[in-house]
Amino acid sequence: MPLKRPHHHRDASTHLRVNPVFSREPIHVPRFELPDDGMDPETAYQIVHDELMLDGNARLNLATFVSTWAEPQAQQLMAECAEKNMIDKDEYPQTAEVEARCVHMLAELWNAPDAHAAVGCSTTGSSEAAMLAGLALKRRWQHRRRAEGKPADRPNVVMGINVQVCWEKFADYFEVEPRYVPMEGNRYHMSAEGAAALCDENTIGVIAVLGSTFDGSYEPVAEISAALDELQERTGVDVPVHVDGASGAMIAPFLDPDLAWDFRLPRVASINTSGHKYGLVMPGVGWALWRDAEALPDDLVFHVNYLGGDMPTFALNFSRPGAQVIAQYYNFLRLGFEGYRRVQQTCRDVAVRLAKEIAEIGPFTLLTDGSELPVFAFTVNDDITNFSVFDVSAALRERGWLVPAYTFPDNRTDLAALRVVIRNGFGHDLADLFLEDLRRVLPRLQAQAQPHRDVTDAGAFAHGTEAATTERRTDAKPAAPASA
Ligand SMILES: *Cc1c(COP(=O)(O)O)cnc(C)c1O
Repeated sequence: MPLKRPHHHRDASTHLRVNPVFSREPIHVPRFELPDDGMDPETAYQIVHDELMLDGNARLNLATFVSTWAEPQAQQLMAECAEKNMIDKDEYPQTAEVEARCVHMLAELWNAPDAHAAVGCSTTGSSEAAMLAGLALKRRWQHRRRAEGKPADRPNVVMGINVQVCWEKFADYFEVEPRYVPMEGNRYHMSAEGAAALCDENTIGVIAVLGSTFDGSYEPVAEISAALDELQERTGVDVPVHVDGASGAMIAPFLDPDLAWDFRLPRVASINTSGHKYGLVMPGVGWALWRDAEALPDDLVFHVNYLGGDMPTFALNFSRPGAQVIAQYYNFLRLGFEGYRRVQQTCRDVAVRLAKEIAEIGPFTLLTDGSELPVFAFTVNDDITNFSVFDVSAALRERGWLVPAYTFPDNRTDLAALRVVIRNGFGHDLADLFLEDLRRVLPRLQAQAQPHRDVTDAGAFAHGTEAATTERRTDAKPAAPASA
């Protein structure tokens, strides 16, 4: 985490060793201190550029959900608005207008009963959107409790143990008790009964994930919603649902039009997505939408006038780049519904085929098959005791492939899996290369006497996230999959 100066290795130099490219380079370029003097722009560019060459190759990264490619025209537009500040809605009214158009398009895509009545905003990603959506749930619950003359000091939120780390953060940062529905047997996400059973009068909402980070499976939003209807009939407790559609809210509308997971379900109060995942924008944009103004308490919306005009704002950030929002709008125009459908269908086709071929190799068992999110998880067969998923991950890494291996949370901590995320640009050809490499490393793994690696070797792929527990998080928990 780049919050502190990085640790000093004993022999790491405090200066960058620069190869003279232009013969004008300063002799010393400090690594951690602000240089006393500047340098030529070409030199600064080359130094930064060379440092970054040590980063991975995004095309071979099967761990991330985030877009790593944009059309030249989208890149050009992003460069053209690099200086535009999203918050300056008075100075850049057209950027603000474009944001509003995107919100409206998403409201229709997610079947808001009245797209004009839906409210929403862009964010830096699903994590910020989750904070805002969670806050809206909490504030609504507080208002209701106070109106009823009841205490409003012990809110809880119900979610599957498979939630992305942003929801653990929400609960922690905003002091809401997290209640996790554990996994059970072959169910790797929240069940409807499990969710309803954890709800009570202090529940601000249930978070349903459309597209679990762990295995790409959809949580049964309609069933969860029906279980909460039943709960309300029985007890009077009325619990809204928020759908975390970080990935799935940009897959299901195009590929699963008959699946009711969105505002078609009256209980769904709000939805978030990551524009930079299957929204196909480069990192830096997410969206949060509420069914109607009633779902977003007005006292969370601030009105500021110091940039001119009266500007309502609901966001954690103030200044933020506008380029990604523009790129989202570009993609919407460029691809249209049919374009998105084809891109997502291709991802699903590749995922389903790759999963099937991996299953046919022999030593692997699929947990999911890529038919929901274009994402699948697989594990090494139970009877294989001489190599682990962590060995497979490490062997693939030798060929440049980044495939995370990780253990599952409660009650399946016995399970360790590998996960493959298929994104736009990962076609059948790359899938063939991947299969070839997987087959090539197998004989060596099969010749091992025992596994060489276990969960403690998975850290490098874990991207700093860790699995939730049904208790509170503990430092002893194994790493959860990288979800970004
Ligand atoms: C990626 C992801 C998030 C976090 O989204 P960011 O856009 O990376 O902040 C939240 N929930 C789910 C299900 C995700 O997959």
